[in-house]
Amino acid sequence: AGAPSARSIATAEAHSAHNYHPLPVVIATADGAWVTDVEGHRYLDMLAGYSALNFGHRNPRLIEAAKTQLDRVTLTSRAFHHDRFADFAAQLAELCGMEMVLPMNTGAEAVETAVKTARKWGYRVKGVPDGQAKIVVADNNFHGRTTTIISFSTDEEARADHGPYTPGFEIVPYGDLAALEAAVDEHTVAVLLEPVQGEAGVLVPPPGYLSGVRELTRSRGVLFIADEIQSGLGRTGATFACDQEGVTPDMYVLGKALGGGVVPVSAVVSSREVLGVHRPGEHGSTFGGNPLACAVALEVLDMLRSGEYQQRAKELGEHLHRELNLLPSGAVREVRGRGLWAGVDIDPSHGTGRQISEQLMSRGVLVKDTHGSTIRLAPPLVISKEDLDWGLDQLRTTLST
Ligand code: PLP
Repeated sequence: AGAPSARSIATAEAHSAHNYHPLPVVIATADGAWVTDVEGHRYLDMLAGYSALNFGHRNPRLIEAAKTQLDRVTLTSRAFHHDRFADFAAQLAELCGMEMVLPMNTGAEAVETAVKTARKWGYRVKGVPDGQAKIVVADNNFHGRTTTIISFSTDEEARADHGPYTPGFEIVPYGDLAALEAAVDEHTVAVLLEPVQGEAGVLVPPPGYLSGVRELTRSRGVLFIADEIQSGLGRTGATFACDQEGVTPDMYVLGKALGGGVVPVSAVVSSREVLGVHRPGEHGSTFGGNPLACAVALEVLDMLRSGEYQQRAKELGEHLHRELNLLPSGAVREVRGRGLWAGVDIDPSHGTGRQISEQLMSRGVLVKDTHGSTIRLAPPLVISKEDLDWGLDQLRTTLST
């Protein structure tokens, strides 16, 4: 890194909490699948803001939608109606094949909203005794960083020294239908899962798992909540990862790409029976569903309706996985994923995931490591095939040295 980068990193280190360990790149501008640092070096972004940038950096349609809205009204709070809200709610519900939405801002807030909604539904509709509601979740989950959410994490790094923890959750092995069935009892209000576990290293559950979860939850009167914050909105080659098994959950939790990488937008999307449990004053957010958020999200919804981004993720994803599976087996232990999304376990003889990420950075490719030896690839869905191939060339070269 050059002097401007080094200065910027040193100041950030001195004055910001060290809850992240970023790669030593200081990004100044971005366009599509590419970013440029303060020294003018260009990098191919193969992380895409953990899938928040599915449509690429500064997608012209999203920037235009935001600019137009900036000249009209940006915030009203939900104390008043505004003229972008109704279309946002109706169109998002329609994309999901659902009836109602509850907008928030970040993913964690939407997961919290899903948890609160499921509990309230359990007490008011299902008839679970007060204070007894149970939600079943999977091990190695990642649903966000709030105190309640880390209470049902199995990641000690995320949990340690943040207790006391919120009760009411049971953790079962991901992908194990029998364990899930054994955990569901008469007080269970919901099963909360990522249909593909992103932060865990892009883990795809065994075939039949999601449809099995759907059958089980339906037959036991339990809500199936799909956290599609990272897997949804095109990433896997379909609008939702659940679509891949023809499964519709009772509740989608969405975030990240819903705001187009421009503004934080998240939402819970469900039926009238479920989201209808909320009454005025019982839940909310100052910024949730604000006009700027709705304007950008409406454009995102319009882009998803064409199906072109899903198709692109599917086609480029098949190419990506074909190429990744050709990497030398001595360098790569396993490749997982779906669509334009992959977890690549690097053989430790080639270095840690962090070291590989740093080497890729020096070759002009940005990725993020996870769990020691895994690197995660999730380029923007707008990436060209040529750029994707160039990025894969850099990975191949890095692993052959
Ligand atoms: N749920 C899933 C599946 C995620 O991948 C993430 C973020 O990585 C979250 C929830 C939390 O989202 P946020 O960081 O916006 O709170």
